[in-house]
Amino acid sequence: MVPSLNYHAMKDYLQLRAISKSYGDVTAVESLDLSVPKGSIYGIIGPNGAGKTTTIRMIMDIIAPDSGQILIDGNPPGNDFKNRVGYLPEERGLYKKMTLREVLLFLGQLKQTSKKKLGKDMDVWLDRMGLADYKNKKVENLSKGMQQKLQFITTLLHEPDLIILDELFSGLDPINIELIKNIVLELKAEGRTILFSTHVMEQAEKLCEYICMINRGQKVLDGSMSQVKSQYGKNSIHLEIDGDGSFLNSLSGVDKVTNFTNYFELTLADISRSNEILQAIADKVPVSRFERIEPSLYNIFIDLAGNHGGVASGKESAGE
Ligand code: ATP
Repeated sequence: MVPSLNYHAMKDYLQLRAISKSYGDVTAVESLDLSVPKGSIYGIIGPNGAGKTTTIRMIMDIIAPDSGQILIDGNPPGNDFKNRVGYLPEERGLYKKMTLREVLLFLGQLKQTSKKKLGKDMDVWLDRMGLADYKNKKVENLSKGMQQKLQFITTLLHEPDLIILDELFSGLDPINIELIKNIVLELKAEGRTILFSTHVMEQAEKLCEYICMINRGQKVLDGSMSQVKSQYGKNSIHLEIDGDGSFLNSLSGVDKVTNFTNYFELTLADISRSNEILQAIADKVPVSRFERIEPSLYNIFIDLAGNHGGVASGKESAGE
């Protein structure tokens, strides 16, 4: 059963009501309900093939649902919807032979923004993204990460109310991730609604206030990040040790060990035994940190999706 959490004190900007989509025998999305509060950052996560892109394409009216309803601000999307939404698709596609200026003018005008305003705003954005020197160069001269930043500008240049970002950070270095993350937070502070899809749990965890997980076309988790985490209990331990941790798997009272390279996350069967478990670890290796934490989104994801294939399960290494 989908945990149902009553978290929508704010008005919902985007609502999906029982939307479904099948491709032949494959049910990509099945009776999915989603409520995205206005002015929030809302993450959709899920394993490969879960139905995330299909869901986003239905919101964008690229494909039609077989059944169900989509509401924007309480109403079916009107003719002006495409001008009010900014969409960064998973498959990036910019006109490689055009200059950055030409691309931004062309795509901006498709969204009914005046040439004069576009000219002014694009300079601000290009400067902020470190692309000002490339304004009159062709897109094909840009690196992958630079193209990603340009595509991000095309998503925002017409000042949309609803911003849909599919794998926003792919191909970006940490400095650009930070730059873009700060812009996303500014957009939220301006009251824009942001729907964010990713495979990288660490990003979702840091950025999203609300999270929905889809698996096999169905919702398996939905709620505010803090509610979702508290629902998954407080029997997790952040552990840092000096030495080999392979013995952790066989410790009595430890249900699960996730290896995050520089630390471990232990899931205990019973948190009241934590002192005893700490002692058992300290008997074998020096312990530099042993701290009770909320479970990581990564582990919640593995728990919910891991039993159905597509992602590793059990006592594993985290490959984030
Ligand atoms: P990923 O994380 O791998 O991008 P996703 O969650 O975005 O996956 P979707 O692309 O929405 O998943 O796919 C959901 C299901 O629908 C999959 O089983 C996929 O094979 C199927 N599917 C998607 N698009 C099509 C299509 N055009 N024709 C047939 N099947 C499709």
